[in-house]
Formats: sequence, C-alpha cells, structure tokens
Amino acid sequence: MSIIIKNLTHTYHPSTPLETVALEGINLTTEKGQWLSIVGHTGSGKSTLAQHLNALIVPEKGEVIVEGFVSRPKSQDLRKIRRLVGLVFQYPEQQLFAETVFDEVAFAPRNWGVSEEDLEKVVNETLLEVGIPLDFLDRNPFQLSGGEKRRIALASVLAAEPAYLVLDEPTAGLDATGRKDLIKLLSKQKKKGRGIIFVTHDLETALMSSDSILVLEGGREVVQGAPGKIIEELSRGAIRGLRMPEVLELAMCLEQKGWAVPLTWSHYDLF
Ligand code: ADP
Repeated sequence: MSIIIKNLTHTYHPSTPLETVALEGINLTTEKGQWLSIVGHTGSGKSTLAQHLNALIVPEKGEVIVEGFVSRPKSQDLRKIRRLVGLVFQYPEQQLFAETVFDEVAFAPRNWGVSEEDLEKVVNETLLEVGIPLDFLDRNPFQLSGGEKRRIALASVLAAEPAYLVLDEPTAGLDATGRKDLIKLLSKQKKKGRGIIFVTHDLETALMSSDSILVLEGGREVVQGAPGKIIEELSRGAIRGLRMPEVLELAMCLEQKGWAVPLTWSHYDLF
C-alpha cells in the first residue's frame, strides 16, 4: 500500500488578482517504511503539497490516494486519510492547544475511545519515544522551550499511530545535535514501518536520510529519485539554485571507500 499522487495542481485564489499556482502537475509515490523528502526553496510549494498528503487541502485537479482511500470533497475517505497521515506543522504553536502535556498527547487516542487507564500507558510511552521526561506531564506545553514544544507536537501526532508521518521543516532552527537526534528518532519510526515524508529546504539532511527525494521549484518537479540520482544531477549542475559541494565531496569520499551512494543516516555519525 502507498501514497499515490497523480498530476496534482493547486491554485490559491483562482480567478482573482491574487491567483497563485502553488503546485503544477506533481506525480509521486511513496510507501510505508520508506523515507521521502520534499526539497525546495521557500515558496516552491512544499507546504501546499504536505497539506494535500493528509487531506487538509483536498485536490481540485489531480488525485491524492492514500492506502487506497481517495481524497475528494465530502468523501468518507477524508477521515480515514487524516487518521492514516499525521502532519507535524512547522511551528508547534500552530498545533498545540491543550493545557497540559498529558492532554495534548492524549487527545487523539482519547478521541478514539482508548480507556483512561490505557491512555496513561500510551502517553508515557510516546513521551519517552520523543525524549521528554515524564515529569513534564502536568506542565503547560506553551511554557516549554521551542525544542520541547516541537517534541510534544511530534508526540501528539505519534500517539495517533499514523501510518505516515509528514513533517514540515522539522530541522529548521535545530543545531547539529538536535538535527541528528531528530533524524535518529525518525529513522526508528521508519524501521517500525511508518512512512516518513520530510519537507525541508535542507538538501544535505535529505540526501543523508532519504530513500527518495522530490525537488520542487515554483510548484513544479525539478527532479525526483534516489539520493544517488539527485547527487548525479547536482554534479552536472542541473538543479537550478541548489548547490551542495560538501555533499558531493562526501559522496565521492564514500564511493572511494567502496560504499555505495545513496548515503543513509547511519553514515551520518562518521562526519
Ligand atoms: P513552501 O512551503 O515551499 O514555502 P508554499 O506551499 O507555502 O511553499 O507556497 C507555494 C506558493 O503558494 C507561494 O507562492 C505562496 O506564496 C503561495 N501560498 C501558500 N499559501 C497560500 C495561501 N494560503 N494563500 C495564497 N497563496 C499561498
């Protein structure tokens, strides 16, 4: 089973002076247990695409199909898609709403009728997964640090047990250690069988971690494929606006050592 996007086009404010074509003719497929990165500069259409993945935006033109459920206006499938695909927003403040960390993380499982006894277990396990100590349970999420808020926002999505996890710019503002911790955490989620969809302008992290990468510019696909293909395109200077000399050096260094490109996150520790 998979997420399939066919010929997706999205226009904001159509037929008005504010009309903006945010996506044009996008095709992609990804599966559970795979890591797809969507890479591009600001305004390239990444967030618009991310919002289509969990049916926050329903396609006007083209198709989004998640595990066989089709995203169509007023369809019963929309609820299923929203449950299958968890979206972690770029800014946790857009996502957090509860007065305590417990209530925040318990929200989705509680809604689905998980008993109060079992809820405690689910919340505790999820918090430990994202590295938040259990003495945070009664704290107000809005009074935590930026990094802690992000972890709580991620925990609240993970507690819903999504099949796919979409993260919008999750490494923005993180230092190297924070980035590495997050990649490890997401890699664990991938090993558990979740599909990871990582929306970023950070091509380096995408190259290190992904099974496949879609590069967007101006709402259109520039190139799509395995990291090795993206590195090949980069080495020919074919990707407009994106240059990664460090990564190219690194890829060559790995190849000299007899390791195959694409790189995987486990090599990350070596650099
Ligand atoms: P990215 O996530 O890569 O920065 P976005 O998907 O946010 O790209 O934006 C793609 C294009 O759509 C940009 O030109 C942006 O200005 C426009 N856009 C995004 N959201 C809206 C909106 N709600 N209303 C109008 N235009 C929008």
